[in-house]
Amino acid sequence: MSTALLDRVKIDRTTLSFVPELVYFEPSSLDYPKGQRIFEWVKKEGIPYRMTTSHNRITNLPGDSELEKYKIAKRTLVVGIRKTLKFDTSKPSAEYAIPIATGCMAHCHYCYLQTTLGAKPYIRVYVNIDDILDAAQGYIDERQPEITRFEAACTSDPVGLEPISGSLRELIEFFGKQEHGRLRFVTKFHHVDSFLDAQHNGHTRIRFSVNDKYVIKHFEPATSKFEQRIEAASKAARAGYPIGFIIAPIIWHEGWENGYEELISSLAEALPHDVTKDLTFELIQHRFTKTAKAVIEKRYPRTKLEMDIEKRKYKWGRWGQGKYVYPDEQANALRMFISERIFEHFPEAKIEYFT
Ligand code: SF4
Repeated sequence: MSTALLDRVKIDRTTLSFVPELVYFEPSSLDYPKGQRIFEWVKKEGIPYRMTTSHNRITNLPGDSELEKYKIAKRTLVVGIRKTLKFDTSKPSAEYAIPIATGCMAHCHYCYLQTTLGAKPYIRVYVNIDDILDAAQGYIDERQPEITRFEAACTSDPVGLEPISGSLRELIEFFGKQEHGRLRFVTKFHHVDSFLDAQHNGHTRIRFSVNDKYVIKHFEPATSKFEQRIEAASKAARAGYPIGFIIAPIIWHEGWENGYEELISSLAEALPHDVTKDLTFELIQHRFTKTAKAVIEKRYPRTKLEMDIEKRKYKWGRWGQGKYVYPDEQANALRMFISERIFEHFPEAKIEYFT
C-alpha cells in the first residue's frame, strides 16, 4: 500500500484488541513506514521497548516460571521483517499461506499454535508488506489463468492485530485489483471497522470463527465475544465482503444442542438476507494430539477441556502423529444436528466440510 496512506493511519487505543506490555523492534523494521508508525505509537504510549537484532535472540523474557513467561510472551509484540518469502502451501482452503503475522494474543486452550510455535509464542508483525505482496504477485503470475487463493490467518489472527498493523487493509486492496488472486482469512475478533471501506472488489472472503456461548466462555479467553463476532460478520456482509463461518472446535458438552441452535439462529437474525446465497460454513469437531494435550495441561492446568483418550476415537494422521476425535456416533450427532440447523436457517448456504 502506498506509504502516504499508511502515514495517515493512526493507531487508536480504543480500537485495540490488546495493548502489548513489551515491544521488540528489529532495527531494520524502522526503515519502513509501518515500523516507524508502530515505534512512534509505542513511545507515545510509554510502552517499554527494546531493540533486538533478530526475534530468535529473544531469550530473556520476563517471568519467574515457565507459565508466567508464556503469559508475558503472549503480550509481547515483535516488529520485524519477513525474510522468508517462500510461502507455505495451505490446502485445501487456499493454495498458499501469506505471512503477515505470527502468534496471537488470545488464549484459546485448544489452539494449534500452542504446539506449532513451541517456545516462541510472542506475536510478530512484519512491516515489509510490499516485499510480501511482490512475492504473492509472483505466485499469482505463475499460475494464471488459474485463480490463486491466499490464506492470511495460518499462523495468527490478523484481525486482532489489524488496529496496530493495518496490514490486512493493504492486502485486501492489493487483491481487490487482482484478476487472478484471492484473499481469505479467518478470525475470532471483531476489529473489522478499519477495512470495511477498503476496495475489496469481492476478492476477499472473511470467515468468522464462531462457537456457542459455553465454548467461547470456557475455552477462548481474550477473544471477541459471541455478540461482537456476529455483529462484525454482519458489518462485513453489509460492506459487500463474501463471508463465511467456521464453527470450530465443535465441542460436545452438556446443553450443546441448545448452544449450537442459539448460535445458528443468532447468525440468521443478524445477517442481511441477501448474503445468504454465497454463505459458506466449515465445521470442525474438536481434536487433539497427545503432544497438544500435554502442552495444554501445562499451560491451562484448570481447563475444562475434555481430552480423555478413552472417550475418543484415534484418527491416523497423514503426516505422522494421529489425532483424537469424537467417536463416530457423537461426531455424526454433532454433524447432523448442526447441518440441519444451518439448512433450516440458510437453505442456500454451502457446508464445505465437516471434519
Ligand atoms: Fe489461536 Fe485463533 Fe485463539 Fe488466537 S484466536 S489463540 S490463533 S485459536
